[in-house]
Amino acid sequence: MGPLGTSDKVELDEDLPAHGQHFCIACSRYFISTTALETHQKTKPHRRRVKELMGARPHNQTDAEWAAGMGASDNGQRPGGGGGEAGMEL
Ligand SMILES: [Zn+2]
Repeated sequence: MGPLGTSDKVELDEDLPAHGQHFCIACSRYFISTTALETHQKTKPHRRRVKELMGARPHNQTDAEWAAGMGASDNGQRPGGGGGEAGMEL
């Protein structure tokens, strides 16, 4: 499932980009930096994945893990909404 092929438990690992600090739980992917992660979060595949997760299970542990993984960046501050890179695909 994850890059390590083990469990979906998130741990800091020196083999991962940025030690696995920037992890998209929805997509089970690691990113090298906050910027890379944020850029990824604007892509269609990610948004679709999020929708699927939210639609399937509105309120459960996934949400909690989600919040933990994303930090406050997703809830608190959004950089405007109409970013120039929006809609960009891979
Ligand atoms: Zn994602």
